[in-house]
Amino acid sequence: MTGGPTAPNPLPAGDLRAPPAAPAELVAALVATGAAVDVTTRQRAEHARDWWPRSIPLSARGEVDQWPGVVVTVSSTEQVSAVLRVASAHRVAVTAQGGRSGVLGGAVPSSGAVALDLTGLRRVLGVDAASHTVRVEAGVFGPDLDESLAAHGLTVGHYPQSFAHSTVGGWIACSGSGQFSNRYGSIIDMVRALTVVLASGEVLTLGGRGPHEAVGPSLTSLFVGSEGTLGVITEATLVAHDRPASQGRRAYGFPTFDEGMAACRRVVQRGARPAVLRLYDTVESERHFQSSSCVLIVFDEGDGALVETTLAIVEEECARAGRLDDELVTRWLDRRNDVTALAPLWERGYVVDTMEVSAPWSLLTQLREAVTSALGELEEMSAVSLHQSHAYIDGACLYFTFVGRPSDGEFFYRRAWDVAMSEVTKLGGAISHHHGVGRARARFVDDSLGSGAGLLRAVKKLLDPDDLLNPGVLALGGVPW
Ligand SMILES: Cc1cc2nc3c(=O)[nH]c(=O)nc-3n(C[C@H](O)[C@H](O)[C@H](O)COP(=O)(O)OP(=O)(O)OC[C@H]3O[C@@H](n4cnc5c(N)ncnc54)[C@H](O)[C@@H]3O)c2cc1C
Repeated sequence: MTGGPTAPNPLPAGDLRAPPAAPAELVAALVATGAAVDVTTRQRAEHARDWWPRSIPLSARGEVDQWPGVVVTVSSTEQVSAVLRVASAHRVAVTAQGGRSGVLGGAVPSSGAVALDLTGLRRVLGVDAASHTVRVEAGVFGPDLDESLAAHGLTVGHYPQSFAHSTVGGWIACSGSGQFSNRYGSIIDMVRALTVVLASGEVLTLGGRGPHEAVGPSLTSLFVGSEGTLGVITEATLVAHDRPASQGRRAYGFPTFDEGMAACRRVVQRGARPAVLRLYDTVESERHFQSSSCVLIVFDEGDGALVETTLAIVEEECARAGRLDDELVTRWLDRRNDVTALAPLWERGYVVDTMEVSAPWSLLTQLREAVTSALGELEEMSAVSLHQSHAYIDGACLYFTFVGRPSDGEFFYRRAWDVAMSEVTKLGGAISHHHGVGRARARFVDDSLGSGAGLLRAVKKLLDPDDLLNPGVLALGGVPW
């Protein structure tokens, strides 16, 4: 195995004060499923957190908000089904966990719940080389999948920054997008089939009969972005691509962010899909590249003819920008998976987080200004910055970062989320592009989904009538943060 779970910071050594573990009767029934069952305080504490920045200072002090009653590690779909049947019979909540790299508390179990660790589902089950698809278990980490596919000359092309620390199931459950998604698509574009276990223990196999199925609404899509609230994904078939034969890099400096955005829009609307088309505002350009302009990083990979044509279009559309050293792209590629930045700041008393949102091109300037000023006007805010990370024909993702050093961290943090999400919703943008909702964004879901919120609740009621799967996440049951 080359990938694996990690945490933003270590828990302190020594004893942690924990409430009692799950009742003996429940533990015995879970043991009887054949899954690995652990009620030790340390394992419960590790499985009580993900990468939600809010929990970094808590866990650094050895504090846990919500203790799961038991950690259960499964290694087959049948075991997942048996565990969910036990949980249903005992009316105990279950939180599916992959790499626990989610940044919004989505993998944080509610108090007393079963933390269902899926990283034992770690087999790549088969590659259909002619069809360019791969069948894979949900707990496989990014590097392990990539290594298996490399042996066939393939890649799925899904490379989130958290690639080494996240699993196939987590990618699907959060509806993620990798850093190269302009070329390869987001995870929703790659899913061809799913195996899902419902709260009752029933096993569903969905899709897998062809590249596009016009047989009613897409049932696989129902579980993409469902964040462990509708079912537990145990297996997926994903579409794969030839490993890239060729690469190209370009860097440009724009006088303003809007001019850079306009160039990105023209590039994608002409049909070019450079894997990376990433535009930084002046604050982040200075921070990452020591440049006073708005830096645009362009990277493409794939068939040589496609890369050449793509970069020719990029060059035409960026002709009026300053050409920067292409080495900036290499620097970005070298550092792009560094995940060490946030934890030391939180431990030193800073409150820092990121918010990725999306909107149509016609709204993006207004949205950028509204969110930047709403965050910037908060007392004790030190810096607000952004970049554009993913571009589409009809819009893009804006990725904001804020940092403050407030006297009351929790109050400040909640306010930051409140004002930013409210501006995005008011203007008609989407409150998340690829991180999902988790616990942090749950209170904004109703406003964001509007009339769709009732439909989502009805689906939840049908699939999980006792509200056992990840309550509190996605605003479905439980107590959101
Ligand atoms: C530094 C950093 C950078 C990141 N960069 C990106 C990025 O570039 N792109 C991106 O999309 N995301 C990014 N993320 C967010 C996160 O890594 C992704 O959301 C990832 O897909 C989560 O996968 P995981 O296996 O860690 O899931 P977890 O964190 O374990 O779980 C996330 C959610 O999915 C549910 N879940 C997990 N597995 C299953 C399953 N098998 N069945 C049902 N539900 C399940 C959980 O209950 C939870 O609600 C980043 C995170 C960090 C810390």
